[in-house]
Amino acid sequence: MVSRIGLVTGSTSGIGLGIARVLATKLEALIISGFATADQVTQIKSELTSAKGCQIEYVNADLSRPTEIAKMFNKIHEIFPEGLDVLVNNAGVQHVCPTENFPNDKWDDMIAVNLSAPFHAIKSALPKMKEKGYGRIINIASAHGLVASANKAPYCATKHGIVGMTKSVALETAESGITCNAICPGFAYTPLVKKQVEAYADQKKLSFEEAKKMFVADKHPHKDFVTPEEIGEMIAYLCTPAARMITGATLSIDGGWSAW
Ligand code: NAD
Repeated sequence: MVSRIGLVTGSTSGIGLGIARVLATKLEALIISGFATADQVTQIKSELTSAKGCQIEYVNADLSRPTEIAKMFNKIHEIFPEGLDVLVNNAGVQHVCPTENFPNDKWDDMIAVNLSAPFHAIKSALPKMKEKGYGRIINIASAHGLVASANKAPYCATKHGIVGMTKSVALETAESGITCNAICPGFAYTPLVKKQVEAYADQKKLSFEEAKKMFVADKHPHKDFVTPEEIGEMIAYLCTPAARMITGATLSIDGGWSAW
């Protein structure tokens, strides 16, 4: 079996878009999803289609709602009755705040998008993967799935949670031709991180460019950001037959952060 049809959640921005750029050169069909205007979707679809003739479909859902995830999978299975070969759970949200002041609605949203949505997506994708005896599930966790930072308790909870879920699904699927792995990126410069750099610049009274350098150097011994495409290349490898024995792994791409 080979990887032909993939879904990348949250692929209208940042890391997910970088992953989609790489997978569009490797797969026969790719479903992109995430919030975007109609113009943005058209532009992303045309960029990805021209990459290598990959069939690009846009199927969106508000991933904080399990009923919408179910509808998204119904739609995907209408277009591709054979189901997904590759599921990349990437969509995620972030909010930085001390625990005692953390808004309850942000906690609920983070749990829903970062942790419950991957669970519901895996649950929806697995039956068809099991039927064909092949699947690649990749969960985008974070360095914060392995280590913690202050003011990110809910984010760390979701990312440590997805690492645990990854291992459990890997054990359940170990003899079925399906692998399930978590990627733990350090900082990639995306809209999610730009907001944090802006806050850091404010707090340290630095220019934006100085803050950007110091923000990443504070956590990455390498001192540079990870690129979304570097994460995409790791996923492309996990989709090859050579990666058949990699399952239940937490793969760091973090410039050495988790080695501190
Ligand atoms: P981003 O904000 O650039 O993109 C997030 C994507 O998720 C967008 O496409 C957005 O539309 C989608 N999304 C958010 N909420 C959604 C919802 N309710 N329903 C459907 N789609 C929704 O963020 P990013 O930095 O590219 O992060 C992507 C993933 O990588 C997240 O899981 C994040 O936790 C993880 N991550 C990011 C970094 C980093 O440094 N940027 C590091 C480690 C892990």
